[in-house]
Amino acid sequence: MNEPFDLLITNGLVVADGKITRADIGIRGEKIAFVGNPVTRHPSPVTINASGKYIFPGLVDAHVHPIYVDDKYDTSVSAAFGGVTTLIHYAYVKPGQSLVPSLQSFRDDGLQTSVLDFGIHAGLFDVANQIADVPAAFPFGVTSFKVFMTYAKLKWMTDDYWMAALMDVVAQERGLVNVHCENGVVTDYLEDKFNRAGLDSKKMFTAMRPALLEAEATNRAISIAHVMGCAVYIVHNSAAENLEPLRRAKQNGWRVVGETCPQYLTLTDETTQTLAAQAKIGPPLRYAHDNAALWQGLREGILTTIGSDHAPKAKKMDDDFFDAAYGAPQIETMLPMCYYVGVNEGKLGRHEALPLLIAALSETPAKTYGLYPRKGAIQVGSDADLVIFDPAKTWTISNSNQHSKAGFTLYEGRTVTGVVDLTMQRGRVIVEHGALRREKGNAQFLKTDTSHFYAL
Ligand SMILES: [Zn+2]
Repeated sequence: MNEPFDLLITNGLVVADGKITRADIGIRGEKIAFVGNPVTRHPSPVTINASGKYIFPGLVDAHVHPIYVDDKYDTSVSAAFGGVTTLIHYAYVKPGQSLVPSLQSFRDDGLQTSVLDFGIHAGLFDVANQIADVPAAFPFGVTSFKVFMTYAKLKWMTDDYWMAALMDVVAQERGLVNVHCENGVVTDYLEDKFNRAGLDSKKMFTAMRPALLEAEATNRAISIAHVMGCAVYIVHNSAAENLEPLRRAKQNGWRVVGETCPQYLTLTDETTQTLAAQAKIGPPLRYAHDNAALWQGLREGILTTIGSDHAPKAKKMDDDFFDAAYGAPQIETMLPMCYYVGVNEGKLGRHEALPLLIAALSETPAKTYGLYPRKGAIQVGSDADLVIFDPAKTWTISNSNQHSKAGFTLYEGRTVTGVVDLTMQRGRVIVEHGALRREKGNAQFLKTDTSHFYAL
């Protein structure tokens, strides 16, 4: 006698664990209770026929900033429409704020307002004064700490002395340091130099934040982390040149994870020149050869995760470029853009492109932060966090069909094939056919665990 499922998804093509298989998925309560041969039939009061559709594990976006025009509620709604079911947010701890109380209030706000389950990274802006509290964040469930090697003039930059000190402490706690790698002192010098010469800051934007200074900082962060025995996560790799230090680290077996983002895979400086202030992001959108190199990096396993860096600001195209804030909405377009360019246009290759893409968007981030196989997996016992994706539907991305409060998308007018049909978390439908079906206040806080980096 088979116990009935609460929900059965039939006839879908399940993309998980490096392969695509036709399987039925039975869900009981919040968990996946069965994955298997379609001929095995269990009774179920609700059945979804996913014939002709893909089923992905819900995306795990480990690079999210819910502190600008999209708060934690708005961000989770945009995420759900884009097939993301797990968020790892950056909680920024500014100078004068203390670490654990900041994390607590960030978590409590998320539990009340988020539609999706979430974890937290701590972003440190004053390591000298915050480092003593870092060990106390681990029992709280925060095991990753971000620093910036750039934005020196904004006073966001952590210098090498304090980055090394942080890595030293974090390594002892078996944690992860996430680094924004650009040489902030030299980019500030270039900015001043171009300003003094009266040059157009939009035209000079990639020259001010050049690829080589991103690769230099990446190499420095990786080297310092290795000396300190610390695992390091290089966020938003944007440049072909970054693959060199990342490749060396991989070949040496160092504890390094390389992330890229949809915007660096699919957009170039042409978008910056067209959309101006709206496309001002750091690192900058670069060139077609960078796009190609980053796709190749994913194919080779040099880059292993894709995060959105969703950081929407309410910017108009004609805002002053120099004064405009960095950041753009990304979370809702991440899956359709990466699917369309990586799989349909073949940038991820012809063989196993889709399982590779889903690994980078879901499985590997879940593994990196110790959430796997609860998240990022379609296995018996995993949370029933699923995406049903229609690979046949063609649609046009426009601000009018997006849910961010930014008021724009960098992909306006892009026609793509492939759309999210349904997003489910822990067995409950969140988004179905373009409608939000779940309310705030159902989220769970996820404690991360990065100790696996230190296993022998
Ligand atoms: Zn970011």
